Amino acid sequence: MKIVKKLIYPTKIFAISVIFLLFLAILPYFHAEMYDFRPNSTFSGTSWFNPYLAKDSILLKANFHSHTFAWGKLTNGHHTPEEVHSQFKHLGYDIPTISNYHQIDTTGKHDTSSIYIPTYEHGYNVKKRHHQPLGASSIVWLDFVFLQTLHHKQYMLNHIAPTCSVLTINHPSFSNGFDASDFSQLKNYDLMEVLNHYRTSFPHWDSALSAGISAMIVSNDDTKHLDAKGQCGAYWTMIYAKDRSPSSVYSSLKKGNAYGVRGIDAKNGNKLEAVSINNDSLSVSMKTSVDSIRFIHQHGIVKEVFSNTNHATIPLLKNDTYIRTEVYVDSVTTYFLNPVFRYSNNPFTTKIQLPTINTVNTFLYRALIAAIELALLGVIAVLFQSMRKKKVEKVTVE
Ligand SMILES: [Zn+2]
Repeated sequence: MKIVKKLIYPTKIFAISVIFLLFLAILPYFHAEMYDFRPNSTFSGTSWFNPYLAKDSILLKANFHSHTFAWGKLTNGHHTPEEVHSQFKHLGYDIPTISNYHQIDTTGKHDTSSIYIPTYEHGYNVKKRHHQPLGASSIVWLDFVFLQTLHHKQYMLNHIAPTCSVLTINHPSFSNGFDASDFSQLKNYDLMEVLNHYRTSFPHWDSALSAGISAMIVSNDDTKHLDAKGQCGAYWTMIYAKDRSPSSVYSSLKKGNAYGVRGIDAKNGNKLEAVSINNDSLSVSMKTSVDSIRFIHQHGIVKEVFSNTNHATIPLLKNDTYIRTEVYVDSVTTYFLNPVFRYSNNPFTTKIQLPTINTVNTFLYRALIAAIELALLGVIAVLFQSMRKKKVEKVTVE
């Protein structure tokens, strides 16, 4: 029997294609910078920042994260934008936001009965490190698809922040995209999506707060399917805003004048009456009695729990740098409040002290990326050359 085996182009063409795709995926890594991260600090000072001081506010219900049909139905979203918009309005949301991947949806733009927030979900990397710019003026396409060190994560935040009014890091624990310890260093973002129907990220939040970084909470459904259990009206954010303008919403979110809620059908089931600080004591009052009010301080440690009450007060001790409150209204509904924290001059100082660029390390890093890219181009050139020489080689095996 005579077998004729042709060593033809496909294998090498496939290899060249894979290497070229790798070359393209690595290209964005040229952009990254290497930083000198500051040593960890904590909230300090004799004054206490209370995000709930504003009293002349209206209370708005918001979901900033939902997906619809998009990109030819290639992405995960099972309804039209109109269906998602109207379902959230039906549940009483003032801010029913659609956040498709790298696409700013305009469905609610001309609906005067709801508040329109231009936004999209950023990120197509393998570890699902996603960001959400609220009040987005343009779409950022840059991403680091594979490996991301702390430097890449910080660069991404620095790169997206100028293109929006409020920058959120979405579901940080999802797919282990971020380590909780990352948040003792990362800066230049405003909100952390601590609550999301896929994952909650309390260790990540407490890591930031324990390092004196005033990340504020946002709670979102991340809806893909309106009919799936726990994907619509399960996680939402209540915002105290001066009026119904987007700028007022952005300002309140950044100052922490908002809280996250976990529940069913977006029903609050109670009302936060007041959060006050007097004579070095923190007090939280609800309209009616709740199952429990829990106070949590550094590293997520529960400091004290009060049961079957509508009011709780604890002293603010010398070693307390921040305290956040969780209100377990009943067996299904929980409120997650933003922290009160210590400060001296500006409560948001630690947030604006960004890591500085290390120019030497950045140069060396970019040189390394250049070397890798040149090596890949070299391999492609060698493969092309060998194809040209051999063209089609027939091997006859008897
Ligand atoms: Zn996401």
